[in-house]
This record gives sequence, structure tokens and C-alpha cells, in this order.
Amino acid sequence: MKSQDLFEQAKTLMPGGVSSPVRAIKPYPFYTARAEGSHLTTVDGTTLIDCCMAYGPLLLGHAHPEIKKAIAARLEKGWLYGTPIPEEPEFARLITGDHPGMDMVRFVSSGSEATMAAIRLARGFTGKSDIVKIEGGFHGAHDAVLVKAGSGATTMGVPDSAGVLRDLVAHTRQLPYNDPEALETLLAKNTDVAALIIEPVLGNIGPVIPKDGYLKDIREITKAHDVLLIFDEVITGYRLGIGGAQVKFGVRPDLTTLGKIIGGGLPIGAFCGKREIMSLVAPQGPVYQAGTFSGNPLSLTAGIATIRWLHDHPATYADLEEKTRGIEESLAGKGKTGGSFVRIASMFKYFFRSKAPQNYTEVKECDTAAFTRFWQKMLARGIFLPPSQFETNFLSVAHTKENLEAICGGYTA
Ligand code: PLP
Repeated sequence: MKSQDLFEQAKTLMPGGVSSPVRAIKPYPFYTARAEGSHLTTVDGTTLIDCCMAYGPLLLGHAHPEIKKAIAARLEKGWLYGTPIPEEPEFARLITGDHPGMDMVRFVSSGSEATMAAIRLARGFTGKSDIVKIEGGFHGAHDAVLVKAGSGATTMGVPDSAGVLRDLVAHTRQLPYNDPEALETLLAKNTDVAALIIEPVLGNIGPVIPKDGYLKDIREITKAHDVLLIFDEVITGYRLGIGGAQVKFGVRPDLTTLGKIIGGGLPIGAFCGKREIMSLVAPQGPVYQAGTFSGNPLSLTAGIATIRWLHDHPATYADLEEKTRGIEESLAGKGKTGGSFVRIASMFKYFFRSKAPQNYTEVKECDTAAFTRFWQKMLARGIFLPPSQFETNFLSVAHTKENLEAICGGYTA
């Protein structure tokens, strides 16, 4: 069956026809039959260069042979036990080893679960009620953080969700990104803030890059006010390098949330932090957190294989950086104008705004109609970009020189 027919059916059976809002591409999404390396093949028989990579997890590309082998070997042993598995301490050691200052980890099943638990933990540890998030930052689809939250909600023009209690959201303060003074002012007035949760690089409306010193400034300000700093590295973890944004920018948060890449393409999340804070998590402490699928053997297997592969291939991040640099240089060389190209590591975006945006307000100034025309043109050329001006494009280890030439050709056509 073709994509259009599948979507007609799905719409009668599933809200909006999809399992997650951003997939509801107009007039209908393509349905994927299979994927390998840097390519997706649709049920309609089209092969596309993928610059979405499932919104970030697939740093090594689709169906990477070593990850596939590891998953297949695990399948032979069964895939869910409801007991600990020997790989858990191994993976915990890998993750804590890669993130200085993070002493303990809890594995969960999604990034949303990780941020939800990290926020609860911050409240449990500090005994304070409020949290601060950054406008345009997305931390998953749970109540406390569904305010001015990233691409999905921004694209749909629904910055808040129906069904979220006003009383609950009253405990969520919003601040602009790249504005340490705003944080200082808020914390000077409000002594009931448990944590600041922040994507160190805004990945859900960007990438929007931190100004020089911004992350260090917010570290100092939060410390001075006894507020925990939570780095939500669900996107940036192992994307910006081993150790994510905290290592790249030399800033140590109190808690970190991870997801996406650490599952090697299978569902996962994790939160980690200093021992004195993590010791409060049940059953060691009073902050409850639990899950049937937590520490899922298949996800852990794919995740360990991915992170080990990255350790074994130290040139990976420099190679990936070269790829986005190449696109930038190609655009500059061909005089691409009218917008701004932003990149960091293997994340990139062409914003339809003359200057690179610094925060949510500026991102919203982009010409979204121009983006939609451009997106359709790229798809017609066989290049799948995330279908929103507010979603980051991702490259992987699998993207080839030819893929990059095709991408650059699309940008400058
Ligand atoms: N945090 C960030 C920064 C994210 O980008 C996302 C998802 O895109 C999440 C949390 C939620 O992760 P998940 O979709 O695995 O629940």
C-alpha cells in the first residue's frame, strides 16, 4: 500500500494519523519501508538521503552492522527479564566515566522519563518547588515542561497543552536563552527554585548556540543561589562529542539527562548526577522512580555497542564536524543569501532569518513559509530534512561525500 492510502487509514484510527505530532507532514507523510546507512526507502519506492536520523539517535547511521550484530546476539538470549543484567554496571561505568562529576546513573525508557525524574529528584533534594526552563527548550511531553516547548508545539502554534494544570505550570518559570542577567534577576527574587533545566545547545528550535561564557555564567549563578543545574543532554549527549556539551564547554551540571544516542536507536533515557543527589533515588532514598522497561536489555545492548564504537573510533567527531563545515563552506562559496547557516558538531540548520537566532523570540522571526517551500524542494531532490524550521538537521557517520554534495546542491539550487 502507498503512503497516501496508509495515512488515510491511519487518520481514522490514530489521532492525526501518527504516533508523534512532528511526523504529520502535510499533505501526508511518507511511510518508511526500510533504512540503511544514510538512506531511507519509502513504501512508494523512493530512496531519500536522511538528514533527520530519527531526530538524533542514529549517530552511526541506520542499521549499523555492529549494532545490528549486538542486538541479534542479545535476541538469542531473550530480551526482557525484569531483573538486573550484567551489562548495567558496565554501561553505568562507561557513562559516568565519560561525564566528569556524574557519579551514578538510573536507566529509564525515554528522554521524557529522564527529565521528569530529574526534576522530581531536584525538588526532593532541595525541598524547593519551582523549576526554571528556557523558552523554546524541549524536555519531553510531560506536564511540568510543556510551556513554550520546542519545535513540536511551536510548529503547531500551540505553545501550551490542554490538560496541563495551571497550578502545576505556575511552578515552571521561563527565561530567555543566552541571558544570564535574566536568571540572576529571577533567582534574586525567587528563593523557592529547585533547578534550572536547560538544553545547553537548544536543539529543538535550532541549533541555537550558547554565547561565549553563557553556560559558565549560569553555572555560577545557580551555584550562588543553591539551585541545581540540570543539563538536558538528550540531544547533545555523545552528539557534540564524548561527554556532550558539559565536556565541550567545560561546565559541570549537578544532574544530566541523556537519551537518543545512548540507546543506539532503541528506546532509552537516563539521568545521572552527583552521588549525594542520586543517592536519594528509590530504593536507596525517598524519591520514587520505577519502570517495567527500565534498563531494557536490548536498548542497553545497542547503547553499549554504540558508545564502545565511539570510543574505538576517536576520529569520529572531527570527521562529523568536517561534514557540517563542508556544507557551510559550500553555501558561502555559492553565495547562498537571505538566511543564516548555523552548525555545531553534526547538527546544522539553515534559518530563514538574516542573522543567526540567539533565542526563542528570534527563532520565531524566521520565515516559515519560505522554509516550507525549501523543505518541499529538498524532498523532491531526494533529501529528507526534519519537516520544521524549528528542528535541527542531523548528520551521521554514514553520510558520504556524495550525500553531502547532493545536500549542498539542494541548498544552493
Ligand atoms: N529532552 C530533549 C532535549 C529532547 O530533544 C527530547 C526529545 O526530542 C526529550 C528530552 C524527550 O525525549 P523522548 O522523546 O525520548 O521522550
